[in-house]
Amino acid sequence: EQSQPGLTDQTSPRPDHGEDSYTGSGRLAGRRALITGGDSGIGRAVAIAFAREGADVAIAHLPEEQVDADDTVALIEQAGHRGLSLPGDVRDEDFATGIVESTVEEFGGLDILVLNAGYQKDRDGIETLPTEEFDRVFRTNLYGMLWSARAAVPRLGPGSSIIVTASIQAYSPSHSIIDYAMTKAAQVAFVQAAADELGEKGIRVNAVAPGPIWTPLIPGTGWDAERLATFGQDTPLGRAGQPAELAGAYVYLASEDASYTSGAVLPVTGGKHL
Ligand code: NAD
Repeated sequence: EQSQPGLTDQTSPRPDHGEDSYTGSGRLAGRRALITGGDSGIGRAVAIAFAREGADVAIAHLPEEQVDADDTVALIEQAGHRGLSLPGDVRDEDFATGIVESTVEEFGGLDILVLNAGYQKDRDGIETLPTEEFDRVFRTNLYGMLWSARAAVPRLGPGSSIIVTASIQAYSPSHSIIDYAMTKAAQVAFVQAAADELGEKGIRVNAVAPGPIWTPLIPGTGWDAERLATFGQDTPLGRAGQPAELAGAYVYLASEDASYTSGAVLPVTGGKHL
């Protein structure tokens, strides 16, 4: 049997879905975006796609990822738009709030907020789950998201868009990442409740629910080689997705094409049901 590139060897991205695969056609011209976790994996692919669609893009990221952030900003600028790197930790309320103000100061406003920063780690079981570990997951995925959203709402006008990176884990939680799955379910509740509240201001709030996507988060979970090699093979499409394969979903939700879409959860899962 012939193996396809990227299908079994997860470390080599499928050539047709690499970082250059998203071109763009000005669908976000003149828009100003802030993406948390925008230097790596899904957030980086979204940052590049937004810039190629005409947006200025600020990315918030952990300080130790400055090299990746500089590289992402360079790609945003290559697309002819303004980029901004905001290093810090979204578990810190001042930082999660301040990134909104820094983006508004630099770009003169904010139209698109992508709440994407996230953390997960495999667990041995409920009984041994350390408080400091689930605290990190809750603070990154929930508190950070809520603080940034709270700061952004007064800055967002009609036609603006908030997009949360949730997960298929919100609907089909794995016990090995119980605390992470809890935060993803709570993110969906946030999206639906916030869409209800903010609709009257013309602000749309939606989620993307990715399935298995090959990003730096995955090798960081500490899985063994076999589990890494088979990651995503249980999907109908039989493989993990590449970050660039999600970018179009975010562009759609951020753009006028989605002007009547709010409170939605868009699955990008390789065919797995939510
Ligand atoms: P990644 O590790 O490549 O990116 C995570 C990003 O979050 C990085 O940019 C990092 O700087 C940022 N981040 C993490 N903790 C932070 C903190 N405390 N403060 C500031 N920034 C922080 O992983 P990814 O897979 O691209 O993850 C992005 C989002 O996608 C996460 O919310 C994750 O839960 C979600 N997701 C991923 C998958 C997958 O299979 N990879 C599936 C479903 C959902």
